[in-house]
Amino acid sequence: MYTISKRFTFSASHIIEGLPAGHQCSRLHGHNYVVEVVLAADRLDAVGFVVDYGELKPLKQIIDGELDHRHLNDVLPGPTTAEAIARYLFDRARALWPQAVAVRVSETPATWAEYRP
Ligand SMILES: [Zn+2]
Repeated sequence: MYTISKRFTFSASHIIEGLPAGHQCSRLHGHNYVVEVVLAADRLDAVGFVVDYGELKPLKQIIDGELDHRHLNDVLPGPTTAEAIARYLFDRARALWPQAVAVRVSETPATWAEYRP
């Protein structure tokens, strides 16, 4: 199995709903998010790639067009946690590339959330 990944970044604000009063994440705040899409294949293409990194630009366009410098509560249909963002972007990536196997989202240098079906 061959695996590749590509990293993207965006900045956005959010409020996490449903938390106890006083939880810091229930207040309006923002992150400089890091996103990694992971793609895998048993066989390489004729060139020797899982997917040409250059073909992953549409995910950057989705991130820039839908999430960057937005208030995520206005954009996402449900929760705005890193886990939910990972699922949202995984669904978008999988629709573009059947080789997509996971999306990871980081809000801080110390934390990652991943969606992998
Ligand atoms: Zn947050």
